[in-house]
Amino acid sequence: MSLTETAATSPAATADVPHLGHWIDGALRPSTSGRTAPVYNPATGAVQAEVALADRAEIDEAIASAQRGYEVWSRYSIAKRQSVLFAFRELLNARKGELAAIITAEHGKVRSDAMGEILRGQEVVELATGFPHLIKGAFSENASSGIDVYSLKQPLGVVGVISPFNFPAMVPMWFFPIAIAAGNAVVLKPSEKDPSAALWLAELWKEAGLPDGVFTVLQGDKLAVDGLLTSPVVQSISFVGSTPIAQYIYETAAKHGKRVQALGGAKNHMLVLPDADLDLVADSAVNAGYGAAGERCMAISVVLAVEPVADELVAKIAERIAKLKIGNGAGTDGVEPDMGPLITDVHRDKVASYVDIAEADGASVVVDGRGFSVDGHEDGFFFGPTLLDHVPTSSRAYTEEIFGPVLSVVRVASYDEGLELINSGRFGNGTAIFTNDGGAARRFQNEVEVGMVGINVPIPVPVAYHSFGGWKQSLFGDSKAYGVHGFDFFTREKAVTSRWLDPATHGGINLGFPQN
Ligand code: NAD
Repeated sequence: MSLTETAATSPAATADVPHLGHWIDGALRPSTSGRTAPVYNPATGAVQAEVALADRAEIDEAIASAQRGYEVWSRYSIAKRQSVLFAFRELLNARKGELAAIITAEHGKVRSDAMGEILRGQEVVELATGFPHLIKGAFSENASSGIDVYSLKQPLGVVGVISPFNFPAMVPMWFFPIAIAAGNAVVLKPSEKDPSAALWLAELWKEAGLPDGVFTVLQGDKLAVDGLLTSPVVQSISFVGSTPIAQYIYETAAKHGKRVQALGGAKNHMLVLPDADLDLVADSAVNAGYGAAGERCMAISVVLAVEPVADELVAKIAERIAKLKIGNGAGTDGVEPDMGPLITDVHRDKVASYVDIAEADGASVVVDGRGFSVDGHEDGFFFGPTLLDHVPTSSRAYTEEIFGPVLSVVRVASYDEGLELINSGRFGNGTAIFTNDGGAARRFQNEVEVGMVGINVPIPVPVAYHSFGGWKQSLFGDSKAYGVHGFDFFTREKAVTSRWLDPATHGGINLGFPQN
Protein backbone atom coordinates (compact mmCIF):
# COMPACT_ATOMS: atom_id res chain seq x y z
CA MET A 1 0.00 0.00 0.00
CA SER A 2 2.68 2.50 0.89
CA LEU A 3 6.23 2.56 2.01
CA THR A 4 5.24 3.58 5.50
CA GLU A 5 2.02 1.68 6.04
CA THR A 6 3.51 -1.82 6.03
CA ALA A 7 6.32 -3.32 8.01
CA ALA A 8 4.73 -2.39 11.32
CA THR A 9 5.52 -4.42 14.37
CA SER A 10 2.45 -4.98 16.43
CA PRO A 11 2.61 -3.21 19.75
CA ALA A 12 -0.12 -5.51 21.03
CA ALA A 13 1.21 -9.00 20.39
CA THR A 14 -0.88 -11.33 22.47
CA ALA A 15 -0.10 -14.77 23.86
CA ASP A 16 -3.62 -16.14 23.48
CA VAL A 17 -3.79 -16.28 19.69
CA PRO A 18 -1.85 -18.72 17.50
CA HIS A 19 1.68 -17.74 16.53
CA LEU A 20 2.41 -18.29 12.84
CA GLY A 21 6.04 -19.08 12.15
CA HIS A 22 8.10 -19.96 9.09
CA TRP A 23 8.35 -23.13 7.02
CA ILE A 24 11.99 -24.09 6.81
CA ASP A 25 13.60 -27.45 6.01
CA GLY A 26 10.22 -29.06 5.38
CA ALA A 27 8.73 -28.22 8.78
CA LEU A 28 7.08 -25.43 10.73
CA ARG A 29 9.75 -23.35 12.39
CA PRO A 30 8.54 -21.13 15.24
CA SER A 31 10.19 -17.74 15.21
CA THR A 32 12.37 -16.45 17.99
CA SER A 33 12.75 -12.95 16.55
CA GLY A 34 10.43 -11.42 19.12
CA ARG A 35 8.80 -9.35 16.37
CA THR A 36 5.26 -10.07 15.18
CA ALA A 37 2.37 -8.47 13.31
CA PRO A 38 -1.34 -9.03 13.92
CA VAL A 39 -3.41 -11.10 11.50
CA TYR A 40 -7.06 -10.02 11.54
CA ASN A 41 -10.28 -11.64 10.58
CA PRO A 42 -11.48 -8.64 8.54
CA ALA A 43 -15.13 -9.67 8.86
CA THR A 44 -15.05 -9.45 12.66
CA GLY A 45 -12.13 -7.11 13.22
CA ALA A 46 -10.64 -9.57 15.72
CA VAL A 47 -6.94 -10.42 15.85
CA GLN A 48 -6.91 -14.16 15.14
CA ALA A 49 -3.14 -14.79 15.02
CA GLU A 50 0.23 -13.16 15.32
CA VAL A 51 2.61 -13.73 12.44
CA ALA A 52 6.36 -13.83 12.87
CA LEU A 53 8.52 -11.11 11.35
CA ALA A 54 11.84 -12.75 10.60
CA ASP A 55 15.11 -11.46 12.01
CA ARG A 56 18.48 -11.63 10.28
CA ALA A 57 19.32 -15.11 11.61
CA GLU A 58 16.00 -16.56 10.41
CA ILE A 59 16.41 -15.01 6.96
CA ASP A 60 19.88 -16.55 6.65
CA GLU A 61 18.60 -19.89 7.89
CA ALA A 62 15.74 -19.91 5.34
CA ILE A 63 18.04 -19.05 2.44
CA ALA A 64 20.66 -21.62 3.47
CA SER A 65 18.01 -24.32 3.70
CA ALA A 66 16.73 -23.37 0.24
CA GLN A 67 20.25 -23.66 -1.16
CA ARG A 68 20.55 -27.20 0.24
CA GLY A 69 17.10 -28.00 -1.19
CA TYR A 70 18.18 -26.72 -4.59
CA GLU A 71 21.27 -28.90 -4.62
CA VAL A 72 19.10 -31.98 -4.10
CA TRP A 73 16.14 -31.03 -6.29
CA SER A 74 18.03 -29.79 -9.32
CA ARG A 75 19.56 -33.27 -9.65
CA TYR A 76 16.17 -35.01 -9.69
CA SER A 77 15.29 -36.44 -13.09
CA ILE A 78 12.58 -34.74 -15.10
CA ALA A 79 10.33 -37.77 -14.56
CA LYS A 80 10.73 -37.63 -10.77
CA ARG A 81 10.10 -33.88 -10.66
CA GLN A 82 7.03 -34.33 -12.80
CA SER A 83 5.59 -36.98 -10.49
CA VAL A 84 5.87 -34.58 -7.52
CA LEU A 85 4.08 -31.87 -9.49
CA PHE A 86 1.28 -34.23 -10.44
CA ALA A 87 0.90 -35.28 -6.80
CA PHE A 88 0.76 -31.63 -5.72
CA ARG A 89 -1.91 -30.90 -8.32
CA GLU A 90 -4.03 -33.86 -7.17
CA LEU A 91 -3.78 -32.89 -3.51
CA LEU A 92 -4.60 -29.26 -4.25
CA ASN A 93 -7.58 -30.21 -6.36
CA ALA A 94 -8.91 -32.58 -3.70
CA ARG A 95 -8.41 -30.25 -0.73
CA LYS A 96 -8.85 -26.75 -2.13
CA GLY A 97 -11.90 -26.17 0.09
CA GLU A 98 -9.58 -26.03 3.12
CA LEU A 99 -7.45 -23.40 1.43
CA ALA A 100 -10.50 -21.35 0.42
CA ALA A 101 -11.63 -21.26 4.07
CA ILE A 102 -8.19 -20.01 5.16
CA ILE A 103 -8.21 -17.28 2.51
CA THR A 104 -11.67 -16.08 3.49
CA ALA A 105 -10.78 -16.02 7.19
CA GLU A 106 -7.67 -13.86 6.70
CA HIS A 107 -8.42 -11.87 3.55
CA GLY A 108 -12.19 -11.53 3.85
CA LYS A 109 -13.17 -12.32 0.25
CA VAL A 110 -16.27 -14.50 -0.13
CA ARG A 111 -15.72 -18.27 -0.26
CA SER A 112 -16.60 -18.74 -3.96
CA ASP A 113 -14.18 -15.94 -4.87
CA ALA A 114 -11.46 -17.58 -2.78
CA MET A 115 -12.16 -20.78 -4.69
CA GLY A 116 -11.91 -18.87 -7.95
CA GLU A 117 -8.48 -17.54 -6.95
CA ILE A 118 -7.32 -21.08 -6.17
CA LEU A 119 -8.58 -22.41 -9.50
CA ARG A 120 -6.70 -19.68 -11.39
CA GLY A 121 -3.55 -20.65 -9.46
CA GLN A 122 -4.19 -24.34 -10.06
CA GLU A 123 -4.21 -23.58 -13.79
CA VAL A 124 -0.54 -22.63 -13.48
CA VAL A 125 0.20 -25.81 -11.53
CA GLU A 126 -1.41 -27.74 -14.37
CA LEU A 127 0.64 -25.84 -16.94
CA ALA A 128 3.78 -26.57 -14.93
CA THR A 129 3.14 -30.33 -14.97
CA GLY A 130 3.88 -30.14 -18.71
CA PHE A 131 7.25 -28.50 -18.07
CA PRO A 132 9.45 -31.08 -19.86
CA HIS A 133 8.13 -29.79 -23.15
CA LEU A 134 8.61 -26.17 -22.12
CA ILE A 135 12.17 -26.39 -20.87
CA LYS A 136 13.61 -28.66 -23.48
CA GLY A 137 16.31 -26.97 -25.51
CA ALA A 138 16.86 -26.84 -29.24
CA PHE A 139 19.33 -28.88 -31.30
CA SER A 140 20.99 -28.03 -34.59
CA GLU A 141 22.83 -30.90 -36.17
CA ASN A 142 25.86 -30.12 -38.34
CA ALA A 143 25.71 -26.34 -37.77
CA SER A 144 29.19 -26.33 -39.20
CA SER A 145 30.95 -29.37 -40.63
CA GLY A 146 30.96 -32.00 -37.90
CA ILE A 147 29.70 -29.51 -35.32
CA ASP A 148 26.39 -29.67 -33.46
CA VAL A 149 24.92 -26.75 -31.48
CA TYR A 150 22.29 -27.21 -28.80
CA SER A 151 20.85 -25.34 -25.87
CA LEU A 152 20.15 -26.41 -22.29
CA LYS A 153 17.65 -24.65 -20.02
CA GLN A 154 18.96 -24.92 -16.50
CA PRO A 155 17.49 -23.72 -13.20
CA LEU A 156 18.71 -20.49 -11.60
CA GLY A 157 19.11 -21.80 -8.04
CA VAL A 158 17.33 -20.19 -5.08
CA VAL A 159 14.60 -17.81 -6.23
CA GLY A 160 12.60 -15.32 -4.15
CA VAL A 161 8.86 -14.69 -4.45
CA ILE A 162 7.30 -11.74 -2.58
CA SER A 163 3.52 -11.57 -2.70
CA PRO A 164 0.72 -9.09 -1.86
CA PHE A 165 -2.24 -9.58 0.46
CA ASN A 166 -4.97 -9.61 -2.16
CA PHE A 167 -4.28 -13.04 -3.66
CA PRO A 168 -2.50 -15.03 -0.94
CA ALA A 169 -2.72 -18.29 -2.93
CA MET A 170 -3.02 -17.36 -6.61
CA VAL A 171 -0.18 -14.87 -6.87
CA PRO A 172 2.41 -17.21 -5.27
CA MET A 173 1.07 -19.90 -7.64
CA TRP A 174 1.78 -17.65 -10.62
CA PHE A 175 5.44 -18.30 -9.88
CA PHE A 176 6.33 -21.25 -7.66
CA PRO A 177 4.92 -24.16 -9.73
CA ILE A 178 7.02 -23.10 -12.72
CA ALA A 179 10.08 -22.24 -10.64
CA ILE A 180 9.97 -25.62 -8.89
CA ALA A 181 9.22 -27.55 -12.08
CA ALA A 182 12.28 -25.96 -13.66
CA GLY A 183 14.47 -27.25 -10.80
CA ASN A 184 14.78 -24.16 -8.59
CA ALA A 185 14.19 -23.82 -4.84
CA VAL A 186 11.69 -21.12 -3.81
CA VAL A 187 11.70 -18.82 -0.79
CA LEU A 188 8.23 -17.28 -0.55
CA LYS A 189 7.72 -14.14 1.54
CA PRO A 190 3.94 -13.83 1.77
CA SER A 191 2.05 -10.74 2.85
CA GLU A 192 2.08 -10.42 6.62
CA LYS A 193 -1.65 -9.63 6.43
CA ASP A 194 -2.70 -13.13 5.34
CA PRO A 195 0.23 -15.49 5.84
CA SER A 196 -1.53 -18.83 6.46
CA ALA A 197 -2.26 -19.82 2.85
CA ALA A 198 1.49 -20.05 2.19
CA LEU A 199 2.00 -22.38 5.16
CA TRP A 200 -0.88 -24.59 3.99
CA LEU A 201 0.65 -24.80 0.51
CA ALA A 202 4.03 -25.69 2.05
CA GLU A 203 2.49 -28.64 3.90
CA LEU A 204 0.88 -29.77 0.67
CA TRP A 205 4.24 -29.78 -1.11
CA LYS A 206 5.65 -31.91 1.69
CA GLU A 207 2.80 -34.38 1.30
CA ALA A 208 3.36 -34.42 -2.47
CA GLY A 209 6.94 -35.58 -1.92
CA LEU A 210 8.92 -32.38 -2.52
CA PRO A 211 12.32 -32.64 -0.81
CA ASP A 212 12.86 -30.42 2.24
CA GLY A 213 14.17 -26.94 1.50
CA VAL A 214 12.75 -26.69 -2.02
CA PHE A 215 9.77 -24.65 -0.83
CA THR A 216 10.39 -22.30 2.08
CA VAL A 217 8.05 -19.78 3.65
CA LEU A 218 9.78 -16.82 5.26
CA GLN A 219 7.35 -14.67 7.20
CA GLY A 220 8.26 -11.06 7.58
CA ASP A 221 8.29 -7.43 6.59
CA LYS A 222 10.80 -5.12 4.92
CA LEU A 223 13.70 -6.78 6.75
CA ALA A 224 12.88 -10.17 5.20
CA VAL A 225 12.32 -8.60 1.78
CA ASP A 226 15.63 -6.75 1.94
CA GLY A 227 17.32 -9.98 3.06
CA LEU A 228 16.14 -11.66 -0.14
CA LEU A 229 16.97 -8.65 -2.34
CA THR A 230 20.55 -8.41 -1.14
CA SER A 231 21.48 -12.08 -0.58
CA PRO A 232 24.14 -13.30 -2.98
CA VAL A 233 22.53 -16.75 -2.87
CA VAL A 234 19.14 -15.60 -4.19
CA GLN A 235 19.26 -15.49 -7.98
CA SER A 236 15.96 -13.87 -8.90
CA ILE A 237 13.04 -11.96 -7.44
CA SER A 238 9.41 -12.20 -8.50
CA PHE A 239 7.39 -9.48 -6.80
CA VAL A 240 3.73 -8.46 -6.92
CA GLY A 241 2.41 -5.50 -4.95
CA SER A 242 1.98 -1.74 -5.08
CA THR A 243 3.90 0.43 -7.53
CA PRO A 244 6.21 2.28 -5.13
CA ILE A 245 7.38 -1.01 -3.60
CA ALA A 246 7.60 -2.70 -7.02
CA GLN A 247 9.92 0.06 -8.19
CA TYR A 248 12.03 -0.25 -5.04
CA ILE A 249 12.22 -4.03 -5.51
CA TYR A 250 13.18 -3.69 -9.15
CA GLU A 251 15.95 -1.18 -8.49
CA THR A 252 17.36 -2.89 -5.41
CA ALA A 253 17.28 -6.42 -6.81
CA ALA A 254 18.84 -5.28 -10.10
CA LYS A 255 21.57 -3.45 -8.19
CA HIS A 256 22.38 -6.74 -6.49
CA GLY A 257 22.72 -8.51 -9.82
CA LYS A 258 19.43 -10.39 -9.81
CA ARG A 259 16.94 -11.21 -12.49
CA VAL A 260 13.76 -9.38 -11.48
CA GLN A 261 10.11 -9.12 -12.43
CA ALA A 262 8.13 -6.65 -10.29
CA LEU A 263 4.41 -6.25 -10.91
CA GLY A 264 2.85 -3.09 -9.50
CA GLY A 265 -0.47 -1.32 -9.05
CA ALA A 266 -3.22 -0.44 -11.46
CA LYS A 267 -6.06 1.88 -12.42
CA ASN A 268 -8.09 -0.07 -14.93
CA HIS A 269 -10.51 1.71 -17.26
CA MET A 270 -13.51 0.29 -19.05
CA LEU A 271 -14.34 2.20 -22.23
CA VAL A 272 -18.04 1.99 -23.08
CA LEU A 273 -19.02 2.93 -26.63
CA PRO A 274 -22.60 4.12 -27.27
CA ASP A 275 -23.49 0.99 -29.25
CA ALA A 276 -22.69 -1.36 -26.34
CA ASP A 277 -25.35 -3.46 -24.62
CA LEU A 278 -25.76 -1.39 -21.44
CA ASP A 279 -27.15 -4.25 -19.36
CA LEU A 280 -24.07 -6.33 -20.14
CA VAL A 281 -21.90 -3.30 -19.37
CA ALA A 282 -23.63 -2.61 -16.04
CA ASP A 283 -23.34 -6.27 -14.96
CA SER A 284 -19.67 -6.33 -15.95
CA ALA A 285 -18.88 -3.03 -14.24
CA VAL A 286 -20.47 -4.20 -10.99
CA ASN A 287 -18.77 -7.62 -11.10
CA ALA A 288 -15.36 -6.20 -11.94
CA GLY A 289 -15.65 -3.13 -9.73
CA TYR A 290 -16.98 -4.65 -6.52
CA GLY A 291 -15.81 -8.30 -6.69
CA ALA A 292 -13.33 -8.98 -3.85
CA ALA A 293 -14.38 -5.52 -2.58
CA GLY A 294 -12.33 -3.97 -5.38
CA GLU A 295 -9.10 -5.40 -3.96
CA ARG A 296 -7.99 -6.87 -7.27
CA CYS A 297 -5.22 -5.49 -9.44
CA MET A 298 -7.47 -6.21 -12.42
CA ALA A 299 -10.56 -4.58 -10.88
CA ILE A 300 -12.30 -2.01 -13.03
CA SER A 301 -12.09 1.29 -11.19
CA VAL A 302 -13.02 3.77 -13.92
CA VAL A 303 -15.92 3.56 -16.37
CA LEU A 304 -15.37 5.87 -19.33
CA ALA A 305 -18.83 6.39 -20.74
CA VAL A 306 -18.91 7.79 -24.27
CA GLU A 307 -21.94 10.06 -24.37
CA PRO A 308 -24.89 9.90 -24.63
CA VAL A 309 -25.00 6.70 -22.52
CA ALA A 310 -23.71 7.90 -19.12
CA ASP A 311 -27.05 8.77 -17.44
CA GLU A 312 -28.63 5.45 -18.35
CA LEU A 313 -25.51 3.49 -17.41
CA VAL A 314 -25.14 5.19 -14.02
CA ALA A 315 -28.79 4.38 -13.27
CA LYS A 316 -28.31 0.73 -14.23
CA ILE A 317 -25.18 0.37 -12.09
CA ALA A 318 -26.88 2.02 -9.09
CA GLU A 319 -29.87 -0.31 -9.49
CA ARG A 320 -27.59 -3.34 -9.32
CA ILE A 321 -25.61 -2.02 -6.34
CA ALA A 322 -28.83 -1.76 -4.36
CA LYS A 323 -29.25 -5.55 -4.66
CA LEU A 324 -25.73 -6.53 -3.54
CA LYS A 325 -25.41 -8.42 -0.27
CA ILE A 326 -22.43 -7.45 1.86
CA GLY A 327 -21.30 -9.54 4.81
CA ASN A 328 -18.95 -12.11 6.25
CA GLY A 329 -17.33 -13.89 3.29
CA ALA A 330 -17.65 -17.19 5.12
CA GLY A 331 -21.44 -16.83 4.84
CA THR A 332 -24.14 -16.59 7.44
CA ASP A 333 -26.70 -19.39 7.84
CA GLY A 334 -25.34 -21.03 4.73
CA VAL A 335 -25.90 -17.94 2.55
CA GLU A 336 -22.88 -16.38 0.91
CA PRO A 337 -22.86 -12.60 0.41
CA ASP A 338 -21.67 -10.97 -2.81
CA MET A 339 -18.95 -8.94 -1.18
CA GLY A 340 -16.89 -9.13 2.01
CA PRO A 341 -14.89 -6.56 3.99
CA LEU A 342 -11.65 -4.76 3.22
CA ILE A 343 -8.35 -6.08 4.55
CA THR A 344 -7.82 -3.69 7.51
CA ASP A 345 -9.46 -0.72 9.17
CA VAL A 346 -6.50 1.41 8.08
CA HIS A 347 -7.14 0.49 4.46
CA ARG A 348 -10.90 1.04 4.84
CA ASP A 349 -10.25 4.56 6.13
CA LYS A 350 -7.88 5.23 3.25
CA VAL A 351 -10.55 4.15 0.74
CA ALA A 352 -13.04 6.45 2.51
CA SER A 353 -10.57 9.32 2.24
CA TYR A 354 -10.54 8.97 -1.57
CA VAL A 355 -14.33 9.32 -1.63
CA ASP A 356 -13.94 12.49 0.48
CA ILE A 357 -11.35 13.77 -2.01
CA ALA A 358 -13.56 13.02 -5.03
CA GLU A 359 -16.50 14.79 -3.41
CA ALA A 360 -14.40 17.82 -2.49
CA ASP A 361 -13.11 17.92 -6.07
CA GLY A 362 -16.65 18.12 -7.44
CA ALA A 363 -17.64 14.50 -8.14
CA SER A 364 -21.19 13.44 -7.27
CA VAL A 365 -21.49 10.53 -4.87
CA VAL A 366 -24.32 8.51 -6.40
CA VAL A 367 -24.00 5.59 -3.96
CA ASP A 368 -22.06 6.24 -0.75
CA GLY A 369 -20.33 3.33 1.01
CA ARG A 370 -18.79 5.42 3.79
CA GLY A 371 -19.83 4.49 7.30
CA PHE A 372 -21.26 1.17 6.13
CA SER A 373 -21.65 -1.56 8.73
CA VAL A 374 -22.99 -5.10 8.81
CA ASP A 375 -25.36 -6.22 11.57
CA GLY A 376 -23.59 -8.51 14.00
CA HIS A 377 -20.21 -7.57 12.49
CA GLU A 378 -19.98 -3.96 13.64
CA ASP A 379 -16.21 -4.23 14.20
CA GLY A 380 -15.56 -5.70 10.74
CA PHE A 381 -13.70 -3.67 8.12
CA PHE A 382 -16.68 -3.18 5.82
CA PHE A 383 -17.05 -0.46 3.23
CA GLY A 384 -20.13 -0.28 1.06
CA PRO A 385 -20.04 -0.33 -2.74
CA THR A 386 -19.60 3.25 -3.87
CA LEU A 387 -20.44 4.89 -7.19
CA LEU A 388 -18.98 8.25 -8.16
CA ASP A 389 -20.06 10.24 -11.20
CA HIS A 390 -18.58 13.28 -12.97
CA VAL A 391 -15.18 12.51 -11.42
CA PRO A 392 -12.69 15.20 -12.51
CA THR A 393 -9.62 13.64 -14.10
CA SER A 394 -7.47 16.06 -12.11
CA SER A 395 -8.71 14.57 -8.82
CA ARG A 396 -6.42 12.21 -6.88
CA ALA A 397 -9.44 9.93 -6.68
CA TYR A 398 -9.02 9.53 -10.44
CA THR A 399 -5.24 9.49 -10.78
CA GLU A 400 -4.38 7.19 -7.84
CA GLU A 401 -5.18 3.56 -7.16
CA ILE A 402 -7.96 3.33 -4.54
CA PHE A 403 -8.06 -0.48 -4.23
CA GLY A 404 -11.54 -0.64 -2.78
CA PRO A 405 -15.17 -0.96 -3.91
CA VAL A 406 -15.29 2.46 -5.55
CA LEU A 407 -16.30 2.82 -9.17
CA SER A 408 -15.73 6.20 -10.83
CA VAL A 409 -17.66 7.26 -13.91
CA VAL A 410 -15.97 9.74 -16.22
CA ARG A 411 -18.01 11.07 -19.13
CA VAL A 412 -16.22 11.51 -22.47
CA ALA A 413 -17.38 12.77 -25.86
CA SER A 414 -15.67 10.23 -28.09
CA TYR A 415 -13.62 7.05 -28.43
CA ASP A 416 -10.55 9.21 -29.01
CA GLU A 417 -11.04 11.20 -25.81
CA GLY A 418 -11.45 7.96 -23.85
CA LEU A 419 -8.38 6.38 -25.43
CA GLU A 420 -6.32 9.48 -24.73
CA LEU A 421 -7.27 9.33 -21.03
CA ILE A 422 -6.29 5.66 -20.75
CA ASN A 423 -2.99 6.19 -22.55
CA SER A 424 -2.06 9.26 -20.52
CA GLY A 425 -2.25 7.34 -17.23
CA ARG A 426 0.87 6.09 -15.47
CA PHE A 427 -0.46 2.55 -15.03
CA GLY A 428 -1.04 0.04 -17.81
CA ASN A 429 -2.24 -3.16 -16.20
CA GLY A 430 -5.66 -4.03 -17.63
CA THR A 431 -8.40 -2.37 -19.64
CA ALA A 432 -11.58 -3.27 -21.46
CA ILE A 433 -13.71 -1.96 -24.29
CA PHE A 434 -17.42 -2.67 -24.50
CA THR A 435 -18.88 -2.33 -27.98
CA ASN A 436 -20.58 -4.27 -30.77
CA ASP A 437 -18.35 -2.59 -33.34
CA GLY A 438 -15.59 -5.01 -34.33
CA GLY A 439 -13.64 -2.30 -36.11
CA ALA A 440 -13.57 -0.08 -33.03
CA ALA A 441 -12.52 -3.02 -30.84
CA ARG A 442 -9.72 -3.87 -33.25
CA ARG A 443 -8.52 -0.26 -33.25
CA PHE A 444 -8.57 -0.27 -29.46
CA GLN A 445 -6.52 -3.45 -29.09
CA ASN A 446 -3.94 -1.91 -31.36
CA GLU A 447 -3.87 1.63 -29.96
CA VAL A 448 -4.27 1.17 -26.24
CA GLU A 449 -1.08 1.27 -24.15
CA VAL A 450 -2.00 -1.41 -21.63
CA GLY A 451 -0.64 -4.93 -21.15
CA MET A 452 -3.92 -6.86 -20.87
CA VAL A 453 -6.97 -5.97 -22.91
CA GLY A 454 -10.55 -7.24 -22.71
CA ILE A 455 -13.06 -6.96 -25.54
CA ASN A 456 -16.45 -7.21 -23.86
CA VAL A 457 -14.54 -8.98 -21.05
CA PRO A 458 -14.02 -6.81 -17.95
CA ILE A 459 -11.22 -8.69 -16.14
CA PRO A 460 -8.97 -10.02 -18.87
CA VAL A 461 -6.61 -12.14 -16.76
CA PRO A 462 -4.86 -14.31 -19.36
CA VAL A 463 -5.06 -18.10 -19.07
CA ALA A 464 -1.99 -19.90 -17.73
CA TYR A 465 -0.44 -20.65 -21.13
CA HIS A 466 -0.36 -16.97 -22.03
CA SER A 467 1.42 -14.58 -19.66
CA PHE A 468 0.21 -12.00 -17.12
CA GLY A 469 1.64 -8.52 -16.87
CA GLY A 470 0.97 -4.86 -17.45
CA TRP A 471 2.85 -2.01 -19.06
CA LYS A 472 4.33 1.21 -17.66
CA GLN A 473 4.25 1.45 -13.85
CA SER A 474 2.28 -1.78 -13.57
CA LEU A 475 5.34 -3.90 -14.39
CA PHE A 476 9.01 -3.20 -13.79
CA GLY A 477 11.29 -5.55 -15.69
CA ASP A 478 10.78 -7.24 -19.01
CA SER A 479 9.30 -10.55 -17.95
CA LYS A 480 5.63 -11.19 -17.28
CA ALA A 481 4.30 -13.84 -14.90
CA TYR A 482 3.65 -17.47 -15.95
CA GLY A 483 3.15 -18.82 -19.48
CA VAL A 484 6.22 -18.90 -21.70
CA HIS A 485 7.63 -15.84 -19.90
CA GLY A 486 7.57 -17.83 -16.64
CA PHE A 487 9.64 -20.69 -18.04
CA ASP A 488 12.11 -18.25 -19.57
CA PHE A 489 12.37 -16.31 -16.30
CA PHE A 490 13.08 -19.36 -14.15
CA THR A 491 15.67 -20.95 -16.44
CA ARG A 492 18.95 -19.79 -17.89
CA GLU A 493 20.01 -20.96 -21.24
CA LYS A 494 23.35 -22.49 -22.02
CA ALA A 495 24.44 -22.97 -25.63
CA VAL A 496 26.75 -25.91 -26.31
CA THR A 497 28.83 -26.18 -29.46
CA SER A 498 30.18 -29.71 -29.81
CA ARG A 499 32.50 -31.56 -32.08
CA TRP A 500 33.59 -35.14 -31.69
CA LEU A 501 37.08 -35.04 -33.01
CA ASP A 502 37.84 -36.74 -36.24
CA PRO A 503 41.55 -36.34 -37.00
CA ALA A 504 40.80 -36.15 -40.73
CA THR A 505 38.59 -33.05 -40.45
CA HIS A 506 39.68 -31.09 -37.40
CA GLY A 507 41.61 -28.63 -39.51
CA GLY A 508 44.84 -28.20 -37.51
CA ILE A 509 46.07 -24.86 -36.13
CA ASN A 510 43.97 -21.78 -37.08
CA LEU A 511 43.91 -18.70 -34.83
CA GLY A 512 41.06 -16.96 -36.76
CA PHE A 513 37.59 -16.43 -35.35
CA PRO A 514 35.51 -19.62 -35.84
CA GLN A 515 33.53 -19.48 -39.07
CA ASN A 516 31.21 -21.79 -40.85
P1 NAD B 1 2.36 -3.91 -0.89
O1 NAD B 1 3.22 -3.31 -1.94
O2 NAD B 1 2.05 -3.11 0.32
O3 NAD B 1 3.02 -5.28 -0.34
C1 NAD B 1 3.45 -6.29 -1.21
C2 NAD B 1 4.59 -7.07 -0.55
O4 NAD B 1 5.68 -6.18 -0.31
C3 NAD B 1 4.20 -7.67 0.80
O5 NAD B 1 4.76 -8.95 0.91
C4 NAD B 1 4.82 -6.69 1.81
O6 NAD B 1 5.23 -7.33 2.99
C5 NAD B 1 6.05 -6.18 1.06
N1 NAD B 1 6.39 -4.79 1.43
C6 NAD B 1 5.54 -3.81 1.82
N2 NAD B 1 6.20 -2.68 2.08
C7 NAD B 1 7.49 -2.93 1.85
C8 NAD B 1 8.68 -2.15 1.94
N3 NAD B 1 8.65 -0.88 2.31
N4 NAD B 1 9.86 -2.72 1.61
C9 NAD B 1 9.90 -4.01 1.22
N5 NAD B 1 8.82 -4.81 1.13
C10 NAD B 1 7.62 -4.29 1.42
O7 NAD B 1 1.03 -4.40 -1.63
P2 NAD B 1 -0.31 -4.96 -0.97
O8 NAD B 1 -1.01 -3.87 -0.28
O9 NAD B 1 -0.01 -6.21 -0.22
O10 NAD B 1 -1.10 -5.39 -2.29
C11 NAD B 1 -1.92 -4.50 -3.01
C12 NAD B 1 -1.17 -3.92 -4.19
O11 NAD B 1 -0.69 -4.96 -5.03
C13 NAD B 1 -2.06 -3.07 -5.09
O12 NAD B 1 -1.33 -1.94 -5.48
C14 NAD B 1 -2.35 -3.98 -6.27
O13 NAD B 1 -2.67 -3.31 -7.47
C15 NAD B 1 -1.06 -4.70 -6.38
N6 NAD B 1 -1.22 -5.94 -7.11
C16 NAD B 1 -0.74 -5.99 -8.37
C17 NAD B 1 -0.90 -7.13 -9.12
C18 NAD B 1 -0.38 -7.20 -10.53
O14 NAD B 1 -0.39 -8.28 -11.08
N7 NAD B 1 0.07 -6.13 -11.14
C19 NAD B 1 -1.55 -8.25 -8.56
C20 NAD B 1 -2.01 -8.17 -7.25
C21 NAD B 1 -1.83 -7.00 -6.53
